[in-house]
Amino acid sequence: MSMDEPPRKLTLEEWDSRYAALWRQGLRQPGYGGPLRRHIRTEGDLRLHNLRFDSSAAALRLWNLLLTENQRLRQARQQGLKLVGAMKDLGTVPVMAYSLPNLRAFYPDGAWWTPCLMESTDGLLRQAEACGIDAAFCPVRAMLPAFHNEEHFPIPELLICSAGAVCDDFSAIAQRLEHTGFPIAWWEMPRRRAPEPNEPARSLPGNLLAPSLQVECVRAELARVASVLGALAGQPLDTEALANGLRRANRVRRLLRALRQAVYAAVGTPLPALEMLVAEMLAIHFCSDLDETIAVLTGLLAEVHRRVRQRQFILPLDSVRVFWINPTADLRIMNLLEDWGARLCGADYMFTHALDVIPEDLPPLEALARTALADPMAGSASERARRIVADCRVFRAEAVVIARIPGASHCAREGTILRKVVHEELGLPVIDLEIPPLCDALLPALSGRLQALLETVRNRRR
Ligand code: SF4
Repeated sequence: MSMDEPPRKLTLEEWDSRYAALWRQGLRQPGYGGPLRRHIRTEGDLRLHNLRFDSSAAALRLWNLLLTENQRLRQARQQGLKLVGAMKDLGTVPVMAYSLPNLRAFYPDGAWWTPCLMESTDGLLRQAEACGIDAAFCPVRAMLPAFHNEEHFPIPELLICSAGAVCDDFSAIAQRLEHTGFPIAWWEMPRRRAPEPNEPARSLPGNLLAPSLQVECVRAELARVASVLGALAGQPLDTEALANGLRRANRVRRLLRALRQAVYAAVGTPLPALEMLVAEMLAIHFCSDLDETIAVLTGLLAEVHRRVRQRQFILPLDSVRVFWINPTADLRIMNLLEDWGARLCGADYMFTHALDVIPEDLPPLEALARTALADPMAGSASERARRIVADCRVFRAEAVVIARIPGASHCAREGTILRKVVHEELGLPVIDLEIPPLCDALLPALSGRLQALLETVRNRRR
């Protein structure tokens, strides 16, 4: 088996022999490298048994970066670095924290995926119920017991959470967290609105516009966050340091932009949907290692370019082009989507503002404030829908799937609005599906609905 063998998706068992073959051929890996199977033993990530992974060395590195994050955070603490728990903003506070050399930021919100990865052996959702946060809340409730039992991530020295234009779920859970002894530094994110006629306004990434007043408000709030971070780091987060931080974050964002363009626009599928989801997630806090994130994305992009050049694709060329909305609580559904005949040609995982390049021709705090305010979840669902429509056009989507998150308060009306706008503007078939943290029991229903959608597209092609 050679490093350049045609790409395919491998089970964990198949990856064992693929790993051995790569090793014999002189595979070079960073310190966190190794076979994928070990994450079941070290982290209890049982879901890996049920996933299928891209066969490239670049994908192996991506998965290893993702699945070693907790170890990396613990090492950082041992080395004397300070840990910052950024909460809810998805892509803003980490850019500031990584501008200071002795801080590492991560999202405790990421506990969202723990019940999936550990196939519920973590017991976090049950424990959340014991804290009064039941299934009426979205799976981010796993974060609360994870703080209490300290088994899933090290407790950060500092917690910073955005408030204001934030879903009820997160707001309630974060307040409960604070009341149980975890102090939080709050900052205000106003709900983005359209400027009134003649009201001074500023442009935001993502082709958006917001009143100057709101940009000023976020800028002032981020200045406050900068002081809190500077106090923790023992050195100020000044303009020069932040400007350097923005440039480094932009390296990640530009790589992701190139990767999305290369994968979603390709005639075939050069990288599976699951690896694309994981790669896009690196945008929000760099998996606690910005340099490695750059290296991982560079490797993935080179692999994708090579496959496109050699026309090596992992799915049939006639796979239905699907645009996916919202992250899935169960990662397995991204594999199944492809098994059932679809390919991903774009996605909005609720953090499109973390993919936008931060303007480098503005004062850094102003630039970051404008980018933060472009958060799709801080504005209206119809504004979010407009960006989705534009992406669907660019990547020639044939169908749209809205992944409803069980219990999520932001989903109450969102699905109806997104469906209506996409259908009216593009005439594409749209479905919304609720996907629980483990979807196995619902597979017949999910499969039936998704396959019906794909069949609709195939009929429209005839
Ligand atoms: S309700 Fe939605 S926005 Fe809020 S924490 Fe859950 S998934 Fe995130």
